[in-house]
Amino acid sequence: MSWQDKLRQVEPYVAGEQPKISNMIKLNTNENPYGPSNQVKEVLKEIDIEKLKLYPNSDGEELRHALADYHGLKDNQVFLGNGSDEVLALTFLTFFNGKEPVLFPNISYSFYPVYCDLYQMSYKEVLLDQDFKINVEDFKQPNSGIIFPNPNAPTGLLVSLDFIEEVLKSNPDSIVVVDEAYIDFGGQTCVPLIDKYDNLVVIQTFSKSRSFAGARLGVALGNKEAISNLYDVKNSFNSYPVDYITQQIGLASVLDSQDMKEKCQKVIKTREYTKTKLKELGFVVPDSYANFVFVKHPEIDGEKLFLALRQEGIIVRHWNKPLIDQYLRITIGTDQQMERLFEFLEKCITQQQREGE
Ligand SMILES: *Cc1c(COP(=O)(O)O)cnc(C)c1O
Repeated sequence: MSWQDKLRQVEPYVAGEQPKISNMIKLNTNENPYGPSNQVKEVLKEIDIEKLKLYPNSDGEELRHALADYHGLKDNQVFLGNGSDEVLALTFLTFFNGKEPVLFPNISYSFYPVYCDLYQMSYKEVLLDQDFKINVEDFKQPNSGIIFPNPNAPTGLLVSLDFIEEVLKSNPDSIVVVDEAYIDFGGQTCVPLIDKYDNLVVIQTFSKSRSFAGARLGVALGNKEAISNLYDVKNSFNSYPVDYITQQIGLASVLDSQDMKEKCQKVIKTREYTKTKLKELGFVVPDSYANFVFVKHPEIDGEKLFLALRQEGIIVRHWNKPLIDQYLRITIGTDQQMERLFEFLEKCITQQQREGE
């Protein structure tokens, strides 16, 4: 036996690249172009460096309290982690330990199957229809847990609270996780359902709407028993996932949530304009409620367009996977960035049409 025979071999999730190209327009990982609240800058200027010699408050009590206030929950209904990817990893580990498969859509956040493989859990992908819609009936089969993003990633489509309630009612014996990474960009949060359904866990992140991807802060919200179980697992893994500085600036961000809402409104406005503009250019544009659009052009190959854009310094996301390989996921940037994108796409399409003649 060699050490190689004792490995846990996994195929890791591959995140969107962070290339070092000067002057690039980075529209590939759904960061918010407007940056965090000015209050965050103030806190960072005044941070007490001496405090770094101590371990942070392990439960981030102040931040939890502010988040509980923000969501109309109690402090013990809020869980904090080092980015929502970590919260998701702990959620799978805590709640999805039955014998039946975990259910999630076949076109969805591609980290979900990676967690299942890591933990050696079985899973079953429910198939979206041609318009990328989830059929609620597919979530009425034996399972160890259900997870889906709302709005879905990378499609951007939203399901209603009625849909979520139907899933919750049909699965009283499983935890249903709704990954609300993009909810602040125009969707309706299902957090108010938490007090009605003890099997609902909602996950949110500071990375997208709060423009905080570099700091790493994620949240789970649920009934107090579920959250307490999540804390037990976290405390069996890492007592201090959220560092002192991130707790302080996270708090500043929550206390200035108005700033986040205003910046999201700007993104929404640009997104709606982007949809119109891309449709004019002949793209197929599903109705996104997130800070990205998921589009394809009937005349230009997805990978070819992705590479042409990259050559131009415009970085978007493309997956070489069946069903979605013709699509590009384009993050909503500033108006100026999007204008550069439209200009280049127009050039590509005109050229393509000439070649086709
Ligand atoms: C971006 C994203 C996350 C992860 O965000 P973190 O940066 O780890 O907080 C989780 N779920 C979905 C669907 C996402 O798109």
